[in-house]
Amino acid sequence: MSTALIELIQVSKTYKRGKVDVPVLNNLDLVIENGDFLALMGPSGSGKTTLLNLLGGLDHPTCGSITIGEQCITKMSAKALAQWRSQEVGFVFQFYNLLPVLTAKKNVELPLLLTRFSASQRRYRAESALEIVGLADRGSHRPSELSGGQQQRVAIARALVSDPSLLVCDEPTGDLDRATADQILSLLRVLNEEHGKTIIIVTHDPKAAQYAKHILHMDKGELVIDPTLTKQANNASAISSQSAVVEEVSSMPESDQ
Ligand code: ADP
Ligand code: MG
Repeated sequence: MSTALIELIQVSKTYKRGKVDVPVLNNLDLVIENGDFLALMGPSGSGKTTLLNLLGGLDHPTCGSITIGEQCITKMSAKALAQWRSQEVGFVFQFYNLLPVLTAKKNVELPLLLTRFSASQRRYRAESALEIVGLADRGSHRPSELSGGQQQRVAIARALVSDPSLLVCDEPTGDLDRATADQILSLLRVLNEEHGKTIIIVTHDPKAAQYAKHILHMDKGELVIDPTLTKQANNASAISSQSAVVEEVSSMPESDQ
């Protein structure tokens, strides 16, 4: 039985800048298994953020289809997509994107304001999410009263608060020192292994990629996959044993938690 969570078929993305077409992604086929922890690497401008935004339903491809779980998100209306996104996807960004005037707990609660949860349910969920990321005692702090690593933990709690199946993280450790980055990556690994989240991170850091189960490389809008691979092997897990470019990471660093 397939355990695929995400399937991209012939996905392309072309931005328009004035009258000029800017082709960014070119006919991508990709399967990501439920429960995977995937690191997406590649040069700046190769289309990593564009791909992440498509996977998280923040943007539509120009052509091709994207299925996540049972849902073909490329066929959804903007309203249905927003609703799906709020339940199924958590986003983590390089610069945290926390609102400076709100406390950590209020920042974490924010995605739930669009849901039917009562105020007390929202509070309970935000407290639980802060506990998962190890910040139960920092709920009343504002972002400026927290370190970079703590702010990223708050952002991860905000991504978790609606209990999504998928976390997409765009360079989540890009602004952190090595030791703090390792703590954040260890936390992501716990969320993957113990909480069953499927995680996709974009990273430039080979050490960060070591925390992932698979590494996928992008170059100039293409996934760098050996063209001799069969269709059956056309998923990250299956490809890993055969291709140099989708690597199965065998030596996971020790957790420092
Ligand atoms: P990466 O994350 O790998 O650095 P991006 O996905 O951000 O790459 O960008 C890939 C290419 O698409 C770049 O050339 C970038 O300039 C272009 N691009 C990204 N977003 C837009 C946009 N909204 N409009 C036009 N071009 C864009
Ligand atoms: Mg990017």
